[in-house]
Amino acid sequence: MVNAADVIVIGGGPAGVAAAVELRRRGVERVMLLEREADLGGATRHCGHSPFGMREFGRVYSGPAYARRLTVEAERHGVTVRAGHSVVSLHDEARLTVACNGVVSQFEAERIIVATGAREASRAARLLPGGRPVGVLSTGALQGYVTLHGLMPFRRPVILGSELVTFSAVLTCLRHGARPAAVVEALPYALARAPASWFPGLVGVPFFRGATLLDIQGGARVESVRIGHGDKTRDIACDGVLVTGHFVPETSLFLSSGMGLAQGARAPAIDQDGRCANPLYFACGNVLRAVETGGWAFREGRAIGAAVARDLAQPRAMRRQDPPRVPVAFEQPIKLVVPGYVRAEDAAAGALGEFQLRFIARVRGELSLELDGVRVWARRGEFLPERRVLVPMPAALHAARHIAFRFGEG
Ligand SMILES: Cc1cc2nc3c(=O)[nH]c(=O)nc-3n(C[C@H](O)[C@H](O)[C@H](O)COP(=O)(O)OP(=O)(O)OC[C@H]3O[C@@H](n4cnc5c(N)ncnc54)[C@H](O)[C@@H]3O)c2cc1C
Repeated sequence: MVNAADVIVIGGGPAGVAAAVELRRRGVERVMLLEREADLGGATRHCGHSPFGMREFGRVYSGPAYARRLTVEAERHGVTVRAGHSVVSLHDEARLTVACNGVVSQFEAERIIVATGAREASRAARLLPGGRPVGVLSTGALQGYVTLHGLMPFRRPVILGSELVTFSAVLTCLRHGARPAAVVEALPYALARAPASWFPGLVGVPFFRGATLLDIQGGARVESVRIGHGDKTRDIACDGVLVTGHFVPETSLFLSSGMGLAQGARAPAIDQDGRCANPLYFACGNVLRAVETGGWAFREGRAIGAAVARDLAQPRAMRRQDPPRVPVAFEQPIKLVVPGYVRAEDAAAGALGEFQLRFIARVRGELSLELDGVRVWARRGEFLPERRVLVPMPAALHAARHIAFRFGEG
């Protein structure tokens, strides 16, 4: 049997729920949300702390309460939610293969929105040295244990990283009876902005910047780590290691289905309406670029949901047209640009009013945008990795045949 809808959204985190709700609000009849977990909420379900929801709902929620609010919103707006449904492949003609309770079936729609989020890079992907004792976890795994199962696996972990999620890990430990032995960041500065980066100091947890993990030691379980800090080495006694951040977009579906990814971002390339190279597919949220806040993912989902509703409101004959795409060129030290290309005809009315850029390293110099070789925007300053840089889309974008971001150091 084939399950059909007007639009199918894959992923029930903030981005996917916001897209599905917006489609219903704009009169799209059959909107189906497929979520592989038992409940909606995505990464927010595990974050037992605030703040979530201020911008989108005008009040502050903890992660689990925010996830419940998303569930209520989906129900209230008549979204057909299919929890426990894992999408296992995407097909060119907006058809999906989906597994649920050991049964595989086909789902199809006029449009598909992919909102599968991001995940933290594993220990192996980060090439961390040392032995393999039990007790090395990601923040997502820790928060899953604590929030979903009431288990705290550590008393005194060492936490690696300095992104926002790192400080979420510190908070989770403190709230659930563990006291981190240290926070360790390889860079000489914190990746998250202050005041989040002040948090370890405020709660008396040593924060080593510019420190390299040299070894994870222990028999059956982690007993200590060795770090290099300046010209010294230091052993820190601990009972676990939390590897935080280094998010990567959850793009397994795109890769296994032979759909290409954007330069740098390791994410699907989209245009200014969130539309992928295959114009029947759209994407929003952290799958586009790791990693954003819940509020950002929600707003992006809502904007892309609106764009899909506009697309479906066109006469059927117009819908499948695929105007020429102009790629947005860039080179390192720029890491990624979202959207990765512009579809010329509708640039002025796009869902995303800004380009988002990230840098691969801390750099100082001038960032500029050129349209057909003419500089239309520039900003001088210092740019840090994993910090979003927003560049407004100029009106002339829709007519440009060459779009390029340039960076000159100095
Ligand atoms: C530890 C931690 C702490 C955080 N703290 C904060 C905070 O305090 N404030 C804040 O604003 N943000 C916070 N964030 C960020 C916020 O949670 C994310 O930005 C937000 O959840 C991203 O939304 P999303 O919809 O893009 O993806 P996600 O929330 O990751 O949702 C993606 C969904 O897709 C589903 N999925 C994936 N693949 C498939 C498939 N093949 N089939 C079906 N379903 C699939 C997943 O199960 C998941 O439910 C935190 C994140 C983490 C990890």
